[in-house]
This record gives sequence, C-alpha cells and structure tokens, in this order.
Amino acid sequence: MLLQHIAEAAAWERARATGFYDRSTLGASIEQVGFLHASGDPDQTAGVLSAVYAGVTEPLVLLTLDAAVLYRSGLRVVMEPGDPQRPSGEWFPHVYGGSIPVAAVAEAVPVVRAAPGETVASTDAGPETDPAAQMMDQAHLARAIDLATVNASTDGGPFGAVVVTADGQVFQGTNRVTTTNDPTAHAEVTALREAGAGVGSFDLTGAVLYTSCEPCPMCLGAALWSRVSRVVFGADRRDAAAAGFDDAEFHGYFESPDRRGIMPVEQQPTGRATEPFTAWLANEARTGY
Ligand SMILES: [Zn+2]
Repeated sequence: MLLQHIAEAAAWERARATGFYDRSTLGASIEQVGFLHASGDPDQTAGVLSAVYAGVTEPLVLLTLDAAVLYRSGLRVVMEPGDPQRPSGEWFPHVYGGSIPVAAVAEAVPVVRAAPGETVASTDAGPETDPAAQMMDQAHLARAIDLATVNASTDGGPFGAVVVTADGQVFQGTNRVTTTNDPTAHAEVTALREAGAGVGSFDLTGAVLYTSCEPCPMCLGAALWSRVSRVVFGADRRDAAAAGFDDAEFHGYFESPDRRGIMPVEQQPTGRATEPFTAWLANEARTGY
C-alpha cells in the first residue's frame, strides 16, 4: 500500500539530513498532532492540496510512503474519517507511532501548482538534478571515500568525511577512534570539529557534510547541532554492518522501542534538575546556540 503526504520542501530537506520526517500538516509536528496526515490516492491528495494548502506559498514536495516499510519500522497506518465528527465523510490513512524514517519514503517529487486546485507532480527533483551541483557532490564524496580508504589501510577505521562551508572552504576528517582512544572520534565529528575551529564558529549553517558512510546517530546529532544544511553519504548502514560495525544496531535503538534494552536511559526524580537552566537564563552574558 502506498500513501501520499504533502510536505514542505524545507521540512523534507531537514528530514533527509536527520533520517526522520517529523512534520504532519501545515508545519505542525507529528508529536503535536499525534499522527501523520496522509492520503490514499492522487485524487485525495489533490483535494487536500486545494482544501488545505491553497494559501501556502512555500515549495511543497509530494512524498510517497511505503506502508510495508512503515510497519517494519514499528509504525502503523489507521484509516480514519478526516473529520471525527462526521464518520460518513471522507476517510484518510493516518500514520501513528512517531516520526517517519526517510527509508520509508519511496519517492519525493516537487509539487507544481499550475492553477488553483490543480496539481502536477514534476519530475524535476531540484538541485540534485543540476549537473554542476551533482558533479560537485560527487567530487566531495569521492574525496571522503578516498580519505576513508587510505585511513582503513593505515591506522584508522574505514570512514572519511569532508565539510564544505557555505563560502566554499573545505575541511576533512577521518575516523580516529582506535588511534586516540576516543569513542566519539568518528570521521564526521572530526571533520565538523576541524570546520568549526577553521571558520571560528560553532555554527556551520549552509555547509554540506559529505561522508563515506551513512552517519551513525551520534554523527547525525553532531550534524544537526552544527546546523549543516545537508548531508551526503556513500555506503549505507548495511554496508557498515557487513564490515562488522554496529551502525545498523544503533539506528535500531532509536527506531524501535524494543531495542532500548541494549542501553537503558532513565530519568531520576530530583528537585535540582532545572538549576543549570535557571543559571543559564540568569546569565546575561551567555552565548546562545
Ligand atoms: Zn558516527
């Protein structure tokens, strides 16, 4: 079963960087709404577009979701009336259970609105189909892969990363976990640290992170904190698992509640929990980030 969902292009861009799409309708989060609004066919999607998105001018992307992959990810699809007060009205598929893994999105195409109420799904997939941009991506990715291969043949893990800042400066990093006894010294973290130190800022807005392999959850987190605008990778978590790395298992930790057993995380009651934030908010010289 294939479902359709109308996403704001910016939200989809963020999802591609983080691995998860977390919006529902009109920018509201799945967490707020409780589920992801979807539709069951192009006609229903066209109806939603004219009824709900008529006044929205931001670029939109039509996502096609594979229900089978959603189920495998621990999510479930429920058919419900669009208006709970009117069960005789139009019914829609709603996806429950949390954010949508990008892997469950079978297709993403920009929505072109030719006229009010009329929709055409364009085959123009945006900047990735721009040959010059694609060549730059391929060149930087090749450099990350070269770094990884050399590192693997010498004293490090088989991972390399390149950060290209908004103004074109290039920084690189390799996996230094075993050589420095630093479990966080993944190639992406190393490259982001180099970039931050190099440009003299913790904010790498507009930068692109190229990495030889799909970022693990830690590196995705680092990419989010660094505010890079995009992440491009070569091999995926399955390739890493085949080489003996735990990336797939750790992604599973976040994607499936029954994997939490590998490392319980618990909140302990304490009356002092918010003291640091009180001190932070009281410090008028603080640097926000
Ligand atoms: Zn990592």
